[in-house]
Amino acid sequence: MGWDLRQALRHYRNPRLARKILEKIREIAKDLEVVKIMHVCGTHEWTITHWGIRALLPENVVVRAGPGCPVCITPASDIDSAIKLALDGVNVLTYGDMSRAKGSRMVSLEDCRAQGGRVGVVYSFMDAVKLARSNPSQEYVFLGAGFETTAPIVAYAVLKGLPENLKIISSHRYVPPAVGLLAESEDLAIDAFINPGHASTISGMKAYKPYFDRVRKPMVFAGFEPLDILLAIYMILKQIKDRNPKMENEYRRAVTWDGNLDAQKNLREVFDFDDGYWRGVAIVPDSAMNFKEKFSKVDARKIYGLASGKGDHFPSNARCAEVIKGLIDPPECPLYMKSCTPATPIGPTMVGVEGTCRIWAQHKVVGIKCRSGVCEIGSQPPRAKRMFEG
Ligand code: SF4
Repeated sequence: MGWDLRQALRHYRNPRLARKILEKIREIAKDLEVVKIMHVCGTHEWTITHWGIRALLPENVVVRAGPGCPVCITPASDIDSAIKLALDGVNVLTYGDMSRAKGSRMVSLEDCRAQGGRVGVVYSFMDAVKLARSNPSQEYVFLGAGFETTAPIVAYAVLKGLPENLKIISSHRYVPPAVGLLAESEDLAIDAFINPGHASTISGMKAYKPYFDRVRKPMVFAGFEPLDILLAIYMILKQIKDRNPKMENEYRRAVTWDGNLDAQKNLREVFDFDDGYWRGVAIVPDSAMNFKEKFSKVDARKIYGLASGKGDHFPSNARCAEVIKGLIDPPECPLYMKSCTPATPIGPTMVGVEGTCRIWAQHKVVGIKCRSGVCEIGSQPPRAKRMFEG
């Protein structure tokens, strides 16, 4: 009997279809060696963990979380710069989870506020614009972190004209070159990628083509429902079995080949795409969105003479860098759920809402088929049991 992928896509949480795709995955995996798949999106990690998908996969299909959390990869030096400004009396605005990430001296913007620093939390960049507009006598700096999902609104607002009293530290990063770097890493030895759904709605699939051409490893663009993830894994395994690596689109309802051309135009008009540091990872070529010279009047780095440095600056024993790179699972860090918890985060991946440690901790995962063999077997979330086992 034929099995129709498109029909499956209509029912993103259908238990019968989920079981059917899982059967297909198990069947195809029998003929394969170990397959290591990486995703680079915190929302993918949330779906995978929330639905207990890892525990359902065959032993030889390993899914690793890569650097898909913007807060996690924001350089410590940018947090340090924002803290310095806040302590000097500038009103620093940022997102809630970003305010809790610690800089190189293990101090966060939230800690700095407790010491008298001027720090405010906003839900979106446009809130920062409104705040600056309604308080023209105050000086504001927005610490902007995020990928091509959040950068376009900043670019758009800059092109429209910001209030004079609002400047920006741009820590925005562009995902495709990072996927290229990860794909070429011999340490990671990743066989295939689930490419990000949200970010690719902006960049389009075409942004990944140069990197795919270099490595010829399967890349499937996927959405965020459990069936999206299962289908992406199935598509990857099929490509590997057929020895036919390609760029495939599982998320046709949102991702296109070209992406959002208006957003891309605005990004390229406002930002240079320079080599930039991803905390815990490396300097990634062409990935840092820095303001072009003609927009230097909004560039807080230039106006306040801030450094754009590097350096991991993680506490001793913390294994954040390995978690961010997908080399280990959170329970392999000795601090996980001991001194480092969502209430007492030490590293950035326990802070960011898209951080792997935080997602695993919130789901009370103590380890799932841990690849190093040192983790305990964790409990599978009950909803996964309901969904996949009927
Ligand atoms: S548990 Fe904490 S210290 Fe360990 S890797 Fe995760 S965030 Fe870093």
